[in-house]
Parts: sequence; C-alpha cells; structure tokens
Amino acid sequence: MTAPQVQIDTGANAVWVNTATYCIGRFGRMGIDIHRDLGAQTDGQGECLLCTHGAVSEADWDAFVAGMLEHHGVTVPASAKPDWWSARKTKDVPCSAS
Ligand SMILES: [Zn+2]
Repeated sequence: MTAPQVQIDTGANAVWVNTATYCIGRFGRMGIDIHRDLGAQTDGQGECLLCTHGAVSEADWDAFVAGMLEHHGVTVPASAKPDWWSARKTKDVPCSAS
C-alpha cells in the first residue's frame, strides 16, 4: 500500500487527516471517522471504514492511530494526539518557581 500524502491538522475539537482532495480521518470529541479516499469510493462500498459515534477515550485514539495505519498506511504522529479529553483530569503542572 502506498501511503497518501496527507496533512494532519489539529484543532480544539478534533484532529483531521486530509489528503489533497478529501478528509480520510477525523478524531473528534464525539467520535472517530476513518473514511475511504474519494477515488476509492467507486466500488459502492461507501466511505466508512471505521466510524464511532460517542465520546472518545484513550482507547479510541489508539484505534484511530491503528486504523489510519491499517487502512491508509498513514502514520499519525504521537505529537498529533489531542489533550482536550484529558483536560478535565488534574494535571501535574511543574512548578516553575525557583
Ligand atoms: Zn463514516
């Protein structure tokens, strides 16, 4: 499989994986979408490869990363991992005062 050229955009509410023509991956607060690229949707199978519709968890991120690699050959870097779902947890903020 040849991995498509993608651009990974991170926002306040979602991480998007875009090819030049289409959004093939989205990891949002309320679910994952991994979709076939536009050119691969002509077989009548629809666009959905892995889609969930519910509040996401850490395990969903792992599934998203694994799914992007499996279905598209795209490696989603760890740096793209959003931190908004952990925002409600107590964060260990290092004390910068010296
Ligand atoms: Zn879908």
